Amino acid sequence: MTATALVEAAPPAEAVGQVRELLEQAEAARLRGDYRAGSELARQSAVLAESSGDAAGHARALRSMANQLLRLGAQEAAVTACQEAVAVLEALSDDASICEVLTVQALPLDELGMHEEALGVLARAREIAQRLGNRELLYWVHNRTGVVHGSLGRYDSSAEYLAKALTMVEGMDDEARFCILNNVGSNAVYQVPGLRAAGDTATADAALHGALDYIAEALQLARESGNPFREAICLGNFGMLRALGGDFDAADRMIEDSRAIAAVHGYRSLELGALQDRARVRLLRGECAPAIKGLREALDRALETGATPVAMEIHRELSGAYEQLGDFRAALEQYRAYHTLERAAHNDVAAVRARMAVHQFELDNARLEAELAQVRSAELEAANLSWQRQATEDPLTGLPNRRHAELRLPEMVAAGPLCVAVADVDHFKNVNDRYGHFFGDEVLRRIAAVLRDHVRETDLVARFGGEEFVIGIEAADLADAAARCEVLRAQVAAYPWDEMEPGLALTISFGLAAVPSPAGLPAAMTRADQRLYDAKRAGRNRVEAG
Ligand code: GH3
Ligand code: MG
Ligand code: MG
Repeated sequence: MTATALVEAAPPAEAVGQVRELLEQAEAARLRGDYRAGSELARQSAVLAESSGDAAGHARALRSMANQLLRLGAQEAAVTACQEAVAVLEALSDDASICEVLTVQALPLDELGMHEEALGVLARAREIAQRLGNRELLYWVHNRTGVVHGSLGRYDSSAEYLAKALTMVEGMDDEARFCILNNVGSNAVYQVPGLRAAGDTATADAALHGALDYIAEALQLARESGNPFREAICLGNFGMLRALGGDFDAADRMIEDSRAIAAVHGYRSLELGALQDRARVRLLRGECAPAIKGLREALDRALETGATPVAMEIHRELSGAYEQLGDFRAALEQYRAYHTLERAAHNDVAAVRARMAVHQFELDNARLEAELAQVRSAELEAANLSWQRQATEDPLTGLPNRRHAELRLPEMVAAGPLCVAVADVDHFKNVNDRYGHFFGDEVLRRIAAVLRDHVRETDLVARFGGEEFVIGIEAADLADAAARCEVLRAQVAAYPWDEMEPGLALTISFGLAAVPSPAGLPAAMTRADQRLYDAKRAGRNRVEAG
């Protein structure tokens, strides 16, 4: 593997474009409430993004998919997609996007009855939003925190969070505005009866009137957006608020509209909600028997579709309705059924929680392994490089070593006319004897540097051993090569050695021979060695060629 292979390759632009296009289609489908088509397009975008290494696109697609799956009732799949998106974004260190995903993830967790987990992801999201000072992110955190508190039956604290979000929505898009207006209305549907039951009529009335204004604006926004899901959910809330205000006929019409839209578009949870709302209105009208009939119908539908939290709620409402009728036996029966479901739901949640923990564990593990693999291959690469270097480089001078020269010189001869010189430092033993071995080492390093700095790029200088060097010179004739050796000799002699040690002077001798062919290399080396011997005998600091 090469060093560049360790750097993650950028995804091909073409794939990135395709990922984006699919995601745009998915989001367009989401905005018009076609969550079935939208989630499928988002899934395709996610698969393509992952296979082409487009991590940012992968995360965006997963978020869009989760956002739509949760509206189709596929809560667990929505949570899983969010977990995956967060893992991808953690690797990218993209905190703002992590925060966005977490505010989505809170919803399906909440719907699954995993309220603690929902609040947990929102706490993390809040920390990020506050750290980044991002108002828009904080808006979504408050909004979703309000929703979860509502699910927990804490309607007052839900109202507080939602009110905080409402003050922050100015300047945000219609989707954000619709969402908070609708949520305030939805919370009031539960908060108002609670306040009335507690005898706080004034607060109840104020909450109801505020909520009616907000939900009217929400309905207008829903219709303008052309998103039938928004219209249906909003009509349901509007209808219930109207009923709480005593306007039962208007309530019935709105709830029936909501049901019809939900049925046409396959929003099963909304359709179920409409059945439940219709019965609730009857209960508010004081028509207990038809209310019970309606609630039973809704209950069957809830049990059929596995909407356990809704079924539990209906059992409780049925229990209350029978109580109003004075049928305590039936009321108790419903109450018991409620508790049986609650226990089952508890086990269901435990099972879902376990599955999610396994999924998270797998994601963490995969990331850890990827990180480890990267570290390992980097270490391997480094070890490889250092081994290669050790094999061909002289550690003292940094010059190529003898082994390298023996490999390289035949290649150079094969490529064109070549001469070889053997150079040996004169009276080097004296340097060691006088100044010590370490000083001698430094002298060798400097001689090596002088030689290296005064040959051409195409020539080769290698340390042959001890204070001897071999030089491969690309030259057609011996005279040319000799002239180049003469330069090297003069440079070594002229080096300011006495700056190292006063009185120090060093010279070097050369023996030179032409290499006629690759096969003639050993003989040429021997001749160069003989010429070196000649140079030493002739008084050193000279070049002998032949
Ligand atoms: P001549 O001019 O005849 O070549 O004399 P010389 O003293 O250079 O000859 P000789 O070959 O006898 O001595 C070479 C010396 O180089 C002997 C050895 O101690 C020294 N030497 C070899 N390798 C190294 C090294 O890596 N570092 C140091 N400091 N000295 C080395
Ligand atoms: Mg020697
Ligand atoms: Mg020597």
